[in-house]
Amino acid sequence: MVQRVLIVGAGFSGAVIARELAGAGVAVTVADARPHVAGNCHTERCAETGVMVHVYGPHIFHTDDAGVWDYVTRFGTFRPYVNRVKATVGGRVYALPVNLHTINQIFGLALRPDEARAFIAARAQAPAHGGEPANFEEQALAMVGPEIYAAFFRGYTAKQWGCDPRDLPASILKRLPLRFDYDDNYFFHRFQGMPEAGYTALVAAILECPGITLDLGRHVTPAGARAGGWDHVVWTGPLDAWFGHDLGRLAYRTLDFERFTHDGDWQGCAVMNHPDADVPYTRIAEHRHFAPWERPAGSVVVREYSRAAGPGDIPYYPVRLAGEQALLARYMDRARAETGVSFVGRLGTYRYLDMDVTIREALDAAQSLISARSTGAAPPAFLAGGL
Ligand code: UDP
Repeated sequence: MVQRVLIVGAGFSGAVIARELAGAGVAVTVADARPHVAGNCHTERCAETGVMVHVYGPHIFHTDDAGVWDYVTRFGTFRPYVNRVKATVGGRVYALPVNLHTINQIFGLALRPDEARAFIAARAQAPAHGGEPANFEEQALAMVGPEIYAAFFRGYTAKQWGCDPRDLPASILKRLPLRFDYDDNYFFHRFQGMPEAGYTALVAAILECPGITLDLGRHVTPAGARAGGWDHVVWTGPLDAWFGHDLGRLAYRTLDFERFTHDGDWQGCAVMNHPDADVPYTRIAEHRHFAPWERPAGSVVVREYSRAAGPGDIPYYPVRLAGEQALLARYMDRARAETGVSFVGRLGTYRYLDMDVTIREALDAAQSLISARSTGAAPPAFLAGGL
């Protein structure tokens, strides 16, 4: 019978599972090496300007999952927030994601939707091999043609992922919309918003519950977790870290942030992408615009640089090229042979997960742990469907 559970990691995955398990009468300890909850979603006020800063990079909440939206709005007030990103290319500013405005701007035209559709269709290039687009570049060329690919995607993607876009899966581009109207909302989702008090307060509210013990600033090693006498461990850290990286390291991109303050509005929007290959950063975030209702006088501006993560760096984006897929499969086989531990979340399952998907999977994972508890079955290593 699972009565005492250790959850390693106090991000969304760990917090949601903890809350659900505690609600079912399980005693849960949530440990995190960092001194704060919320993982990479952590927000903190800048002491100098009072601006709420997304410390590990911008997070915008968006979902089509009404259950997830109901869940998060139970724990904090959300303010309406629409993500409108701009891009500076060759010294000019364009609208993103690629929409009718972008198309008309880049080609110097005034096309209407049907005309733009036909115009882009005439430029789009199907892969020479005759099949479906097999990589990021083929997907982009088939979707938008060479001009838009070169302006907005090629340089940005090479910087963001540190490799040739031909080596990346087509699925990365499928995250981005292409629109033939003037809608410049970065997301399609029905529910979008920003937690009024920041993500850290939101996650803290999820964790605020009898039955949950929070142990911040504690680095739990796999050996420590195994030896702790827990009925079950939920590991939200990197999957390969559980095995001491003994088959090799799963590759991640990490981010370097170059931060400065400014008196007043610095760039006029929350996110300005810089796709040009000769600009070393990928984007600049101005955090006051993530909380437009606060209207602070000062500003916190952050340039974002992407590079390969070394052993001591914070892992952000799982790379998942062919080599990593093979290594991942070997680690997943090892994980399935373990007992007493389940792997969840972005790091635990080595996937590029948005917050809403993370929360949905954490809710499902908790249900699966609760039902395993009631039947006495051993919880599986991977609790999310499809893994
Ligand atoms: N991307 C791009 N140009 C842009 C924005 C995005 O080429 O101006 C590509 C890039 O490869 C990126 C992917 O699209 O990794 C997904 O973009 P998204 O904005 O979803 O990235 P995130 O916000 O998760 O970093």
